[in-house]
Amino acid sequence: MEQTIGTADRPLRVAIIGAGPAAFYAVEALFKQPGLVCQVDMLNRFPTPYGLVREGVAPDHESIKAVTRVYDKTATNPNFRYFGNVTFGKDVTLEELLPLYDQIIYGVGAQSDRRMGIPGEDLEGSFAATVFVGWYNGHPDYRDMNFDLSCERVAVVGNGNVAMDVARILVADPEALASTDIADHALEQLRQSKVKEVYLLGRRGPVQASFTNPELKEFGELEGVDVVVDPKDLELDAASEENLATDKNATKNILTLRRYLENTEYTRPRRVVFKFLTSPVEITGNDGRVSGLKIEKNRLEVGNDGTLRAIGTGQTETLEVGLVFRSVGYRGVPLNGVPFDEKTGTIPNVAGRVINLATGETQSGQYVVGWAKRGPSGIIGTNKPDSLSTVQSMVADLPELKGIADEKRDPALAEQLLKEKGLEYVTFQDWLALNEHEVSQGKAQNRPRIKSTRVAEMLDVIRQAATSRT
Ligand code: NAP
Repeated sequence: MEQTIGTADRPLRVAIIGAGPAAFYAVEALFKQPGLVCQVDMLNRFPTPYGLVREGVAPDHESIKAVTRVYDKTATNPNFRYFGNVTFGKDVTLEELLPLYDQIIYGVGAQSDRRMGIPGEDLEGSFAATVFVGWYNGHPDYRDMNFDLSCERVAVVGNGNVAMDVARILVADPEALASTDIADHALEQLRQSKVKEVYLLGRRGPVQASFTNPELKEFGELEGVDVVVDPKDLELDAASEENLATDKNATKNILTLRRYLENTEYTRPRRVVFKFLTSPVEITGNDGRVSGLKIEKNRLEVGNDGTLRAIGTGQTETLEVGLVFRSVGYRGVPLNGVPFDEKTGTIPNVAGRVINLATGETQSGQYVVGWAKRGPSGIIGTNKPDSLSTVQSMVADLPELKGIADEKRDPALAEQLLKEKGLEYVTFQDWLALNEHEVSQGKAQNRPRIKSTRVAEMLDVIRQAATSRT
């Protein structure tokens, strides 16, 4: 007799790929579904969980990271297992997972960045801001990046919160960062930094900037940093004035920017220069290295869709800079065997159900959450309702779900697969041991933790902890 999937007799078996906020909120939502019994396995590329909370949130935004306590609570559910250090598509394939799980959720975020598409973008010294973010946050992929901070001026292109984070880290007093969990290698280099001036370039005006007000205000609170704003940029056109009326964040931003105008004596050792209505047109170079950024002044024009667009005026200037960070958005990368929409950089879906773009058909049992679902937007909390909506689709689909074969339902089979493949997977208990190690290392220096930044280093700590447990 066929059993109902999602009951004590026939638990729903779910695999979730990724361990960031969206993935954890999906697991939490699954466990909270009334009457649903499910077993969840989380597969993650790195030994460490939490995705961008660990590898993206700025080190001086420690309080935001407290959100991981909620994820840790989810992880205590006996029906949850964590398999870190397992890369989907490389260590295990979709074909191998499909027979073992009734439903699979992709929560892989957006692993790459958008490009500006201008000449000189590949010169030495031109980087994606996301790489710099990964570097100072101890992301193992960017551990050995080398940013030459011997130049005095740097341009950051984009007006989102990532651009704000990058600019702030570049001008902050390294000694203020020394009490955070910033990666040691980054702290060391920032201590030698000669950077004095960071240009923050927005292609549209201050009303259209996507950074949020607390981030803008933080510049005014930084020791030794002047904030420079061109008063002309705050003379708003009629359409921007009109937009202000309905945009609380932009209204606050304009007030903050006007306050910055009150300081006209720039005597502090470092500065952030806001340049609105400017687009990068070319990165210029010398001997293959960035030497400048040519920018064009823009004006705003109402587009067909009613939004204000930046239109070049032909008026250009070149900023002498030694580094350019493009901070114009993250971008998803395709997963082996999973549909991908090249245009949006996301996994195509309807209400979280993965669809085949060519046919429009749903991929039965496959779902998506977070940035992989909706693109790189929103704050950490945005993912909670977003993941819940995907879980609601999963639950709604249960009556029609065929489910995996009975003989494949034993949870031990997934572990067996990883073992047979010779994978050194990391459990949540292993991660907690690594966490304890990082935190105890940090205590000696009065820091929240000292991050392990190489996978081999992480595995060493985990192995030692496992040995001392036995
Ligand atoms: P974002 O908020 O989408 O900002 C992207 C910026 O790039 C926009 O200012 C955009 O301008 C600009 N841009 C795009 N294409 C451009 C081009 N070709 N030339 C010049 N400028 C261009 O993205 P993000 O900063 O990467 O942040 C991603 C998400 O993470 C956001 O939701 C953000 O709020 C969130 N986040 C939050 C925090 C925090 O809460 N502290 C920290 C980091 C990230 P247009 O507006 O003109 O398109």
